[in-house]
Amino acid sequence: MNLATKVDAGSPDQALRERAKRVIPGGMWGHMNAARLPPEYPQFFARGQGARLWDVNGREYIDFICGYGPTVLGYRDPDVEAAVAEQAKLGDSMNGPSERLVELAELMAETIPHCAWSLFAKNGTDATTDCLTIARAGTGRRKVLIARKAYHGAAPWCTPYPAGTTAEDRAHQIVYDYNDAASLEQAADEAGEDLAAIMVSAFRHDLGRDHEMPTQEFAKTAAAIRDRTGAALILDDVRAGFRLHLGGSWELVGVRPDLAAWSKAIANGYALAAITGNERFREAATKIFTTGSFWCQAIPMAAAVATLRKLHAIDGVARMRHAGERLRRGLQAQAESHGIKLRQTGPAQMPVVLFDDDQDVAKGKLFCVEALKRGVYLHPVHTMFLSCAHSDGEIDRALEATDAAMAVVAQRFG
Ligand code: PMP
Repeated sequence: MNLATKVDAGSPDQALRERAKRVIPGGMWGHMNAARLPPEYPQFFARGQGARLWDVNGREYIDFICGYGPTVLGYRDPDVEAAVAEQAKLGDSMNGPSERLVELAELMAETIPHCAWSLFAKNGTDATTDCLTIARAGTGRRKVLIARKAYHGAAPWCTPYPAGTTAEDRAHQIVYDYNDAASLEQAADEAGEDLAAIMVSAFRHDLGRDHEMPTQEFAKTAAAIRDRTGAALILDDVRAGFRLHLGGSWELVGVRPDLAAWSKAIANGYALAAITGNERFREAATKIFTTGSFWCQAIPMAAAVATLRKLHAIDGVARMRHAGERLRRGLQAQAESHGIKLRQTGPAQMPVVLFDDDQDVAKGKLFCVEALKRGVYLHPVHTMFLSCAHSDGEIDRALEATDAAMAVVAQRFG
């Protein structure tokens, strides 16, 4: 195999990995540990611009991960960077929030139909955790329904890796299967009078499996259980928020949550998360104590105001859908021409591409490595992300690389 991009000894990436191994456990933590990807993938990046990313070895990629979601307008979007530079002249972490906090909360209330109020934090996990705390504070109940294998963050109550957690961290959780209305009903019955919350992902985007949009039946059942029991319907829109619909991803199925968790795309890469809620949970949101030393930072809030305004102004959702559909059509035509069966699921702007008969992801990894060598950064099993900066030209250029990558897969696997 031609491993032109395999990170070789002596490369800047390899040198940083060696240094990191000594001072960072495992060289890198969590999902951004490149050891989870084929060895050809770089660990360290130098810069990003628009739809492109450069690693520390100087290789340029058309990027379909977008920092795992945050880059919604494109890396270093000029309007967001201008707002950031303006705010940086004034201050970031102060003794309390800046004017940007109120501006942003007003913009969220104008943009998101269920939103009467917002709280801001830093990470998606802060937001999903706070939603659950508010639901419990508001209902005075304990049980929460959570979909099997759904990711809601990395705190002890929700991490998919049990090391260092206790069974008690997950007390009062009842599991259902996404898009299975009967299993949701059964879980609600099990919770009985003690049901505080039904937590739903924007769509089914579990790692390594086909993605599924919520069915009408599933969404309506979740809403009916909420209406019948008084529990909170919590939408975890951390991954999909502002890519499918600016008002929240379940606008597409006509169901409004009581509480929603946001992060990733909200500030085009600046550190911010939000919890939004309706009137029913306003008082509960005033009762819980939630805070963090950096949660009032003005720069990410200025970035968020600029990001949301621009997404409105340019119809960012339609742009990302257009780019994603162009990519999807191209990949489909290539698969047919090479006699390969692949499954492209999820919304066009957040695709996952999986190969048939590929239990060990050997085809998927080979495809991604071959694309990487040709300057396209894909992921073999995780949700990918389009941004507003993916132009037709960039999609077409990426498709040239995927065509060659698919030819290699066809040759190797017949
Ligand atoms: N919920 C979902 C659906 C996510 O995709 C993520 C992050 N991938 C989280 C919650 C947690 O967000 P964070 O990593 O910012 O804590």
